Amino acid sequence: MKIFAGVDIGGTTTKVGALGDEFDSVSFATPRNKDALTESIVEALKKLGRGRKFAGVGVGCPGAVDLGGKVDNMPNLGIEDLDIGERLRSALNVPVAVTNDANVAALGESKRWDLSDLVMLTLGTGVGGGIVIGGKIYEGHNGKAAELGHMIIEAGGRKCACGMNGCLEAYASASALIASTVRAMERHADSLMWELCPNIDAVDGKVAFEAEKLGDKAAREVTEEYINYLGIGILNICNIFRPEAIIIGGGISEQGENLLARVRRFCLKFDYGYKNAPRPQILKAKLGPLAGLYGAIEMIKYKVEDNNERP
Ligand SMILES: [Zn+2]
Repeated sequence: MKIFAGVDIGGTTTKVGALGDEFDSVSFATPRNKDALTESIVEALKKLGRGRKFAGVGVGCPGAVDLGGKVDNMPNLGIEDLDIGERLRSALNVPVAVTNDANVAALGESKRWDLSDLVMLTLGTGVGGGIVIGGKIYEGHNGKAAELGHMIIEAGGRKCACGMNGCLEAYASASALIASTVRAMERHADSLMWELCPNIDAVDGKVAFEAEKLGDKAAREVTEEYINYLGIGILNICNIFRPEAIIIGGGISEQGENLLARVRRFCLKFDYGYKNAPRPQILKAKLGPLAGLYGAIEMIKYKVEDNNERP
């Protein structure tokens, strides 16, 4: 039986898993320098392998990754130019494939939902994007594709962390929702949002959604604006990809149907982007924090089975 391994490098925790006749995994705090990170991944893989050779290792990591497995930078870790693909290949002498963490999460969800064509948006600190076509990740001509968070939805709009203006991420990330919530609280001293969160520095992505349930008008304006911008991003995705489903993950997706039903209603107003076109389902991610690790293993499985370009 072939054993495939997966690695999900996270801003805080790194998960390493191996799948053969059984699944086994370990996790550890992500080291903040290149050598320590590489060594701890190799050590964890060797431990999980118990002397057996892996058929391949799939890796998901934050940042922009090229097809050879080189990551430009991982801002949360303060690591730049990490050739993690080459490092793992030479340490283990097995095929290694590396891609962005949102890509592997999308593939993980596609397997979990048994859907071969989907787009995933992760609404967290930023907005991550992953595209799965025919059961495989769409990575671009030489990697770095699917930066859906940086599609511009408002020309000349809010400043985005990437340096552009008006990106989806500047409107639909948890950070953007928090900033809008804070602005609304500053404008409305009588808002119930103050009762739910008296300390304005402690506002999170839930405050506006919780306050609107209590009938707070200012909170409702915040969530409506959030949903409208997210909806515009989704309409663009519908028009470009027309996937079977758009999967919503990340912290904000925890709002569940209160978010998704409203996004569906928004998209319905615009015929899901085009009159008489098929309507992609809009669904909540199922796998949670394991999506990346699961997807990393699924990615290396098809790459090895396809005898892909990577040795
Ligand atoms: Zn951007």
